[in-house]
Amino acid sequence: MDIKEQVALLKCTDYDVELIEKTIRQGFKLLGGDAFLRDLIPKGSKVLLKPNMLSIEGKESPVITNYRVFEAVIRIIKDYSNNIIFGDSPGFGDSTKAAEKSGLMEVARKYGVKFDGFKEGIHVKLDDSILCKSWNVAKAAYEADVVITLPKLKTHAMAYFTAAVKNQFGCIPGTQKATWHTRMPNANNFCKMLLDLNTLVHTDFAILDGIIAMEGNGPKNGSSKKMNTIVMGKSVTAVDSVAARLIGYDNPLDTPVLKEAYDNKWGAVLPEEIEVLGESIENMKADDFKLCRKGGNFYFISPAVTNFLRGMIAPNPSLIVDKCISCSRCREVCPETPKVITMINKNNKLIPKWDMSRCIRCFCCQELCPVGAIDTKYSTLGKILRMDKR
Ligand code: SF4
Ligand code: SF4
Repeated sequence: MDIKEQVALLKCTDYDVELIEKTIRQGFKLLGGDAFLRDLIPKGSKVLLKPNMLSIEGKESPVITNYRVFEAVIRIIKDYSNNIIFGDSPGFGDSTKAAEKSGLMEVARKYGVKFDGFKEGIHVKLDDSILCKSWNVAKAAYEADVVITLPKLKTHAMAYFTAAVKNQFGCIPGTQKATWHTRMPNANNFCKMLLDLNTLVHTDFAILDGIIAMEGNGPKNGSSKKMNTIVMGKSVTAVDSVAARLIGYDNPLDTPVLKEAYDNKWGAVLPEEIEVLGESIENMKADDFKLCRKGGNFYFISPAVTNFLRGMIAPNPSLIVDKCISCSRCREVCPETPKVITMINKNNKLIPKWDMSRCIRCFCCQELCPVGAIDTKYSTLGKILRMDKR
């Protein structure tokens, strides 16, 4: 019989540190207990915890990994290593400020865990890559002995959803992330890059915070969705495959990250390759989760035509004028040169205007708008091909 990747799927109904710790300990027990943890964290290892700190957010924000999940993980890992650091770099704004405001820094101080804002990069090569050979990644992430990613479960305009694989994009120092969007304007190549990045920083384990997830206009401006879930495992693709099915992608291959992982034989993706321990997906699944993008549910005889049309029907950034506060951040973060967005005066209000002929649909503008004034909308062709009412 083929060996399957094991993923622990657990129910956790509240952001209570004791309860979360108990739940994650139960997850480790299912995966092999103390022996599993000793194997994961060899004696003397330097362990990096990588939460999701997408932007500067308050403690209870559903945008970021909750600080109580972070605390529960530290309480467990500190029995195996006394050299734990944590780090991330948001796409916009200062990483130290983000760590302070999120409550993560306060927890880290309590347990003697040091912070690295991923400001220092290191140039490295990845010869055995799917796509990207040359990198500048956060030195602290690259040099850690054990990397444990602590993602948040959210929708994502470009990657459909973000969980373990996508969380590691934070290992690209600060604003250099924008360069990758320009180099990888197509979602499939962008996802290949994410898989390569996970190889490069050797993500060893993932603990997904899905207690309160984000649906709709994620990854920053969607709505909270109580999912009561923690998903854990060694394989980031297996964890993401379970997460995708929990939010409504019954076929994980309908999401670009998992499709690329499958096509490139990068980790377990298909349900039959994954053994789910603990709760069942059927019992934990949300039946009304608002996805921000549907799967690629149309196919033509020629894969080239299918791919071409997929590119044409990608949704567009769309302004919610009433919400816009004229801050121009969308223009600032747009990675394209010259900028796709210009600020124009309309009815005495400064608002962004997009030149869609040059937009690469990276959705950095939508992701980083501070007030959620940018949504995504399908074109008429997109609606017809996807039979989508949005
Ligand atoms: S859309 Fe958002 S980021 Fe752009 S100017 Fe308006 S408020 Fe600022
Ligand atoms: S306008 Fe928005 S979606 Fe288009 S390239 Fe710029 S940041 Fe990306």
